[in-house]
Amino acid sequence: MRHSRVDWAESPGAAFARWLLPSECLTCQDTIADPAQPLICGVCAARWAGLPEPACARCQHPRLLDLDCRLCAEWPPEFIAARSAVRLDERVREVAHAFKYGGWRRLAPLMARRMAPHLDLLGPGDLVPIPTSRRRRWRRGYNQAEVLAAALAELTGRRVSSSVLTRRSGDSSQVGRTPQERLANLGGAFRGERVMGPVILVDDVFTTGATLVSAATALRTAGVERIAAVTFARAEPPLGAATRRRDTTP
Ligand SMILES: [Zn+2]
Ligand SMILES: [Zn+2]
Repeated sequence: MRHSRVDWAESPGAAFARWLLPSECLTCQDTIADPAQPLICGVCAARWAGLPEPACARCQHPRLLDLDCRLCAEWPPEFIAARSAVRLDERVREVAHAFKYGGWRRLAPLMARRMAPHLDLLGPGDLVPIPTSRRRRWRRGYNQAEVLAAALAELTGRRVSSSVLTRRSGDSSQVGRTPQERLANLGGAFRGERVMGPVILVDDVFTTGATLVSAATALRTAGVERIAAVTFARAEPPLGAATRRRDTTP
């Protein structure tokens, strides 16, 4: 098994430009005085909200006490838990978009700081970023999940094991698909490799959980016995979705 480290730091040219120009918050465009937090100001970062409570202990999907969680009911048993740091509201969506598509890799340490307490709760495990297709990686220049995993490793001392999970070729974008189509499209999207010990999947955004479930299924098929996942943000589900009353028959 190969353990890789990803360089999430900015290029020398970008660092020089930052030194020349005063930093501006990506969200509110205010000038940032704190050089340690050069992309999002403290006020905007403090507005990133956590996920609503009460929530399912396994998948963190919002739930009422008398309702069973249907979101994680079909997950493979080896996929024990998923946690996300912040709610994907309008502000966070802009940040996640800038990180994924806009080349703002330097957001990773700030995002990782919010993810670290949730990662701690998931117990031990090497970090396994969700791989992207070669074509998308080439187009964007990086895989945002790898960059996040590297920042988390830097912060927590955990190892990154990128080679444990690879993406099969021929997959297509999930944008614009229904949840059912996403699941079908992801069937067999990943190939896992057996590792001893637990792994923790890392991704930027949890939308329906389908990508993480597909990755967990590939790892489980390869013989991995304990899989958890951490993401920076989570899309807010429609009210009442994926829950059912315990007393109703299916
Ligand atoms: Zn701001
Ligand atoms: Zn659940």
